Amino acid sequence: MKALVKTAKGPGNLMLKDVPIPSISENEVLISVEACGICGTDLKIEQDTFAYIPPVIIGHEFSGIIQDIGPAVENWNIGDRVVAEQHFGSCGYCEFCLTGRRQFCSKKRSPGYYSDGAFAEYIAIPASLLHSIPENVSMQEAALIEPMAIAASAVLGKAGVVPGDTVVILGAGPISLLTLQLVRQAGAGTVLLTGLEADKKVRFGYAEAFGADLCIQADVVDPILAVMDATKGRGADLVVDLSGSPPAIISGLSMLHKNGRFCAVGLPQNPVTLPWAELVLKAQTIFFSYSSDYPAWELCLSLLSRKKILTNGFLDNQFILNDWKQAFQTAHAGEALKVIILPQKTKE
Ligand SMILES: [Zn+2]
Ligand SMILES: [Zn+2]
Repeated sequence: MKALVKTAKGPGNLMLKDVPIPSISENEVLISVEACGICGTDLKIEQDTFAYIPPVIIGHEFSGIIQDIGPAVENWNIGDRVVAEQHFGSCGYCEFCLTGRRQFCSKKRSPGYYSDGAFAEYIAIPASLLHSIPENVSMQEAALIEPMAIAASAVLGKAGVVPGDTVVILGAGPISLLTLQLVRQAGAGTVLLTGLEADKKVRFGYAEAFGADLCIQADVVDPILAVMDATKGRGADLVVDLSGSPPAIISGLSMLHKNGRFCAVGLPQNPVTLPWAELVLKAQTIFFSYSSDYPAWELCLSLLSRKKILTNGFLDNQFILNDWKQAFQTAHAGEALKVIILPQKTKE
């Protein structure tokens, strides 16, 4: 089968290769990968700025169809349309696995980083990680479930949006635009979103269509002043960071109303120095959220099926696997909401 392999450490070293179709163990299924989104971390692995163990097939935001089933697998059939949590290798019997939070299992080896991922025609998956795709959800839409579940675990699970909350979302990437729709569904009041120059052309327009009251270009105006202005000096009840940028995080903390909540999802590459006294005096709460849990996957599939999350714009950039270079270039440009590769299609 064709697969996009990071062959060795260092920038680049990414190539389309012919590799054997993976064999499955008794508790696994083999799926044909029908769609796989390019994530920011795929770009970082390409550039060697994110952890991975080569050689490895990259890609982790996928959907597919079951083609083969291990002898110990029950409840799944050939032909089932599925997505899978990224927690490959999780043990199944530790405290975290038993409570649906396999992302914290110490045995986990995520696909696309530490085990073979889904920019490939086929992938082998532990059956315990599968979720069924509702009939009215397309394969391309289902490939959005992974980033959507990260957003849902953070803002609905950890930070608990309350109806009427004033929310600021830091960053305008795909997870931000999904977060925006989730907080709207949860009844948020004013919702503001910050971004940069590259976000202005496409992403801000979609943010407004998805319910943002205001998009703030943080490299042009002072984002703290802009938030205070838009909230009549009150500030936000909840700030969600998806930018992973230390200056954005620091300014985000200053956007909070007293007794506010800050939900940290983005992964900064440098340390963040917190204004500790200010946080104590205002009795702020900081939540950290990592990856996604079982309930978030089911919730997101249900929301997609009931058309509560709009996918307009997310499906505009689709490429066959042979055109992966063009796909990665489009993703690097940073304007698209999402770039999707269709691994079953290797030729036009
Ligand atoms: Zn991702
Ligand atoms: Zn475990």
